[in-house]
Amino acid sequence: MLKKERYKLIVDYFIKHNPSAETELHYNNPYQLLVAVILSAQCTDKRVNMVTPALFERFPNAKALSETSADIVFDYIKSISYPNNKAKHLVAMGKILHNEFKDVVPADVSQLQRLPGVGRKTANVIASVVYNAPAMAVDTHVFRVSNRLGLTNGKTPLAVEKDLVKHLNKEVIAIAHHWLILHGRYVCIARNPKCSICELKPFCRYYERLQKTNKFSEY
Ligand code: SF4
Repeated sequence: MLKKERYKLIVDYFIKHNPSAETELHYNNPYQLLVAVILSAQCTDKRVNMVTPALFERFPNAKALSETSADIVFDYIKSISYPNNKAKHLVAMGKILHNEFKDVVPADVSQLQRLPGVGRKTANVIASVVYNAPAMAVDTHVFRVSNRLGLTNGKTPLAVEKDLVKHLNKEVIAIAHHWLILHGRYVCIARNPKCSICELKPFCRYYERLQKTNKFSEY
């Protein structure tokens, strides 16, 4: 199957079956999303959602975060992964967001990356979710699923990001991030993809190869 055709069939499938895919992180404004995405690095959204209500109540904005200490933030996030580093990042992020960006979460990916705790992936999430920018955040699910489906041969997150951005229509790039994450989280899981129930089988390169060789190729 040609790449172009594969892209079209997969996008059509998701448009039909998941037209309003969105993040599973709970948030009410860009500041809260930024905090939640920083906390979600190497942690599940479910666990992040358990700590953020109390965290947002105590630190409702960047100013509040900028005025506290990492030790105090730590107490609110100690049940998630890497709480020490994340607490330090949140306080430092609060200072820059409040003092330099005047509490406005920037839309620009390179400006976003100036914030502590914000790498390219987090910056792309914020740009696409908050500003609907055509930015593709490549996490472990997006990387694995897009490779398995045959949307890319990229060996690094950046290569996958570039491939997806190049081939997807601009209007669907932001939502495609959620399609691929959710598919990877619930169907195309890392160890044992649920190919038997997956409706993308007819367009999936991994499944195609599996049928031909009866071997698994891991991503
Ligand atoms: S057919 Fe299998 S490998 Fe392909 S997308 Fe579906 S679950 Fe993943």
